[in-house]
Amino acid sequence: MKILVSVKRVVDYAVKVRVKPDGSGIDLNNVKMSMNPFCEIAVEEAVRLKESKVASEVVVATVGPSQSSEQIRTALAMGADRGIHVQVEQELPPSVVSRALKGIVLKEKPSLVILGKQAIDDDCNQTGQMLAQLLDWPQGTFASKIKVDGEKLQVTREVDRGLETLELRLPAVVTCDLRLNEPRYATLPNIMKAKKKPVEKLGLKDLNLEPSHGIETLSVFEPPKRQGGNKVESVAELIDKLRNEAKVI
Ligand code: AMP
Repeated sequence: MKILVSVKRVVDYAVKVRVKPDGSGIDLNNVKMSMNPFCEIAVEEAVRLKESKVASEVVVATVGPSQSSEQIRTALAMGADRGIHVQVEQELPPSVVSRALKGIVLKEKPSLVILGKQAIDDDCNQTGQMLAQLLDWPQGTFASKIKVDGEKLQVTREVDRGLETLELRLPAVVTCDLRLNEPRYATLPNIMKAKKKPVEKLGLKDLNLEPSHGIETLSVFEPPKRQGGNKVESVAELIDKLRNEAKVI
């Protein structure tokens, strides 16, 4: 069974982002970029399925700028076999990324596609669902456990009622939640080996796609600064402030 994993390059989760002075977006100069944490979980799950001989090959794909090759290399160092890099210099929304991934799926014919549940930069949580729709494949989203059983896949999801287990017919699309696994760190020997693994470069044109998507960012701004809090000495003082200063009671 071949597995396709899709990974996105995002601003590292530990970075406090700054808005550009003209409000046109986030300032990415000298900002640490990493693989989206939910995509790391997706890679880890695919590699574990290969290690347990359920999968025979793990292909990792990304749609992004030339520097996204770093995230492909990280996935290869974690254990993926080869990469596909669709090079685009502009930020694209899930509606275009999912179409690019569909093009890769039609070419590669994997039995399973694993994505993160969401990218931490735009929090869209749309790409996996859109891809499943475009392919007309079953989807299991927010997976906290997956089990391949012949031509079927069991996906356990954490929902408000508890744990829900779905059975999907393969081929299928799965998106990963936080508790699916704990991703490994790539070891130095595997980082070295990853440099020799093949990475295919494509453009949107190779997939018969245009970057246009009908969405325009009008402005980006920081939320208002929080006012400092005040400590009060007694309940009576609190009530007085709520009544006379905040005027909420
Ligand atoms: P989103 O729908 O943007 O929240 O992203 C959900 C998941 O879709 C991510 O965790 C990735 O697995 C995948 N994805 C989103 N954008 C890209 C991209 N540009 N390249 C590859 N995969 C992506």
